Amino acid sequence: MYLGLIGYPLEHSVSPAMHEAALKSLDIQGCYLTFEVKPKDLKLAILGAKSLGFKGLNVTIPYKEAVLDFTKPTNEAAIVRASNTVDLEKMISYNTDVYGAEMALRNVFGESALVIGAGGAGKAVSFALIKKGFNVFLSNRTAKRGENVVKLLQKYGNCSFIPLDDLIKLRGKVDLIVNATPLGMKGFPRVVPVPLELLEEQPVVFDVVYNPIETPLVAHAKRVGCKIIYGIDMLVYQGAKSFEIWTGISPPISVMKKSALLAIESRKY
Ligand code: NAP
Repeated sequence: MYLGLIGYPLEHSVSPAMHEAALKSLDIQGCYLTFEVKPKDLKLAILGAKSLGFKGLNVTIPYKEAVLDFTKPTNEAAIVRASNTVDLEKMISYNTDVYGAEMALRNVFGESALVIGAGGAGKAVSFALIKKGFNVFLSNRTAKRGENVVKLLQKYGNCSFIPLDDLIKLRGKVDLIVNATPLGMKGFPRVVPVPLELLEEQPVVFDVVYNPIETPLVAHAKRVGCKIIYGIDMLVYQGAKSFEIWTGISPPISVMKKSALLAIESRKY
């Protein structure tokens, strides 16, 4: 079975390690290949993979939205206007980041959450939280983009935009804080993306960044006693759901997580 990932750039992806470990553990012959595709070649690349017999593809930055133009999105992918998984036989596009976020947050309860970031991860996590009944405050460096995402999500629950400069006003008012930006990721500024005062109230902290596992936000939140949800959990569950869509089999989560952690630790990714 041929599986793969398209995006640009792809050097940091741990998906090949995760999916190939799942294939091996289930004795399924196959491989998971990565393809850096130029924007003008996106449609050709997807149709080419289909004609070569690939079963499915993951899609990552910057194509999560563009792929919706020539595949049939599920309701969820249409709502968040992003897909990270394509079933090439049926040409259906899914968003398994929402499922990944739901699973990562399955033991987190509360009323209000702050999500920083309005890209693919920010939309998926915010929608997962809205489905759980959270009142979501969304913040983003580019206010307009954040406001547009809020407009999209307000149809499904309580969601409002808060400028980055006003975050301090949320002190003591949120049960959960989510970083859905690349801040803290390898190659990006190693900063805590929220005012430290917000963490002193000990909300649960979820950092979607998984490389490194211990981001500056996670390290600081741990020090002040916050419960931590790690990005690796969302990563593994979104991958497991994609695998299930392509193969019809639920893969072993522990195998996928172990291989993802090894790939991150080996620093080859
Ligand atoms: P994206 O669609 O490109 O969105 C990036 C978001 O981060 C935007 O809101 C952007 O704000 C903001 N941002 C980027 N650089 C920033 C900076 N220097 N300062 C402040 N804000 C900044 O990317 P994405 O797919 O959402 O990915 C975001 C992060 O989540 C990445 O680290 C990615 O690896 C991670 N991720 C993790 C999982 C998982 O399963 N754990 C899944 C998906 C993504 P603007 O609108 O102002 O540009």
